[in-house]
Amino acid sequence: MITVMKFGGTSVGSAEAIERVANIIINTEGDKVVVASAMSGITNFLVSAVDTPNMDIDSIVEQFANKHLMAAEQMFDEKTMMEFRKDFDVRLSAFRKALEGDPNDAYYKDLITSQGERFSTLMLSHYLRMLGHDSVALTAETAGIAAVGLPLSGSADLTATANGMTIKVRPLLFQGIIPVITGFYGIKDGVPLTFGRGGSDYSAAVVANALDANMLEIWTDVDGFMTADPRIIKDAIKIDEMTFGEAAELAYFGAKVLHPRTIEPVRIKHIPLKVRNSFRPEEPGTLIHNLRKKGNGLLKSVATKNDLAIITISSAEIAYRPEMVAAIIKKVSEDNIIIYSISTSLSTVAILVSNTDVSNIIRRLNELSSGDIERIDVKNSVSLICCVGDDLLSKCGVTGDIFTAVKEAGVNVEMISEGASEVSLNFVVPMSMVMDVVAVLHAKYIGE
Ligand code: ADP
Ligand code: ASP
Ligand code: MG
Repeated sequence: MITVMKFGGTSVGSAEAIERVANIIINTEGDKVVVASAMSGITNFLVSAVDTPNMDIDSIVEQFANKHLMAAEQMFDEKTMMEFRKDFDVRLSAFRKALEGDPNDAYYKDLITSQGERFSTLMLSHYLRMLGHDSVALTAETAGIAAVGLPLSGSADLTATANGMTIKVRPLLFQGIIPVITGFYGIKDGVPLTFGRGGSDYSAAVVANALDANMLEIWTDVDGFMTADPRIIKDAIKIDEMTFGEAAELAYFGAKVLHPRTIEPVRIKHIPLKVRNSFRPEEPGTLIHNLRKKGNGLLKSVATKNDLAIITISSAEIAYRPEMVAAIIKKVSEDNIIIYSISTSLSTVAILVSNTDVSNIIRRLNELSSGDIERIDVKNSVSLICCVGDDLLSKCGVTGDIFTAVKEAGVNVEMISEGASEVSLNFVVPMSMVMDVVAVLHAKYIGE
């Protein structure tokens, strides 16, 4: 029985948190493989460091080292501290060298922002050893996590990772050693490539896939996957069980509790996933698996994705010119841009994209032959609301109920996407109104 256990930033954010997490690991039966994020705040610190022109490398290294050493001093005995310092100093020199690298290198930001994971994993692994449990701190390099893709938005190469981990990690399990592996990035052509912010969940799913694990546990700071973002809806409640499809849609459309790509690597191998609270390990969490458990409410959960824009491209009778629609989509996809929704009419194609992608898309569309496009309109600052529920499509009147509630909130719907997924109904509203709509939907239709 192999359990892959992932601990997020807050779960390894202090000496006390690391101690709590170590006990959770020790009390888990069978073989354990741990994946950890950077201590909370560290990745943000590194992102702002690389975004600062003429950064002060000495000061960055010092602040970074202090944060880790302060926690280390609190949790380690003298002997462990000495052993830890040896590994720590090696990694700290490598961090300094990385900072001194070429900031214009396409993968420089990946290299720097992924440094925090190298230190949190080292601390957790040394603490497990101090408690008498054999453990080794591995990086994506030494564990064999392979990545492909563009800077800051990599994907794992599942086959190469499975091959790498079979050689590098599986033998450790036979020897009863607990590997503690860096989340957030993989290795492409010898250098780190990050999986996007929050990517350690995805790393853990990739590790579970590679090792054919029996269970993936995502340990975080809330009791499980909830009916809405608890920061928006104070009375959001924990969901006991969900299907892979439901969790995948919600994560993709903004439920921050899971990185958008976490589900696929475990779903394809039927590995169940649990979301659990490292601050309340007595809570059972949320089980995400293949089986559907019917809820009582119309909706199971609601997620929101902010900072989106609708780009409407107008051209006479575009519906009769499929090659034109194809050319538009091809142009947009040239920059690896994600389209969250598409809708068409006789003479328009509307796409929903991130606000930050708008100027790139317009530039690309202007490359099409003149006369092909009559007009481009942009509506910025909209939000997508993703509603997930049992058999939403087959239940009569669900759409009516949902939009009646939206009308009651006095909000205009800008775009609708229904039918693309069996479990979700998505629509777009002005960003300023998103909280009101979610509050009404949650109050009226959510129930376990
Ligand atoms: P970690 O550092 O453990 O990866 P994150 O901050 O990335 O944790 O994700 C956990 C947070 O996700 C929660 O604290 C909560 O604020 C937020 N969140 C958003 N939507 C949901 C949801 N549907 N269920 C649970 N938490 C959610
Ligand atoms: N440390 C990374 C981040 O803050 C990855 C993660 O926490 O999952 O984005
Ligand atoms: Mg996270």
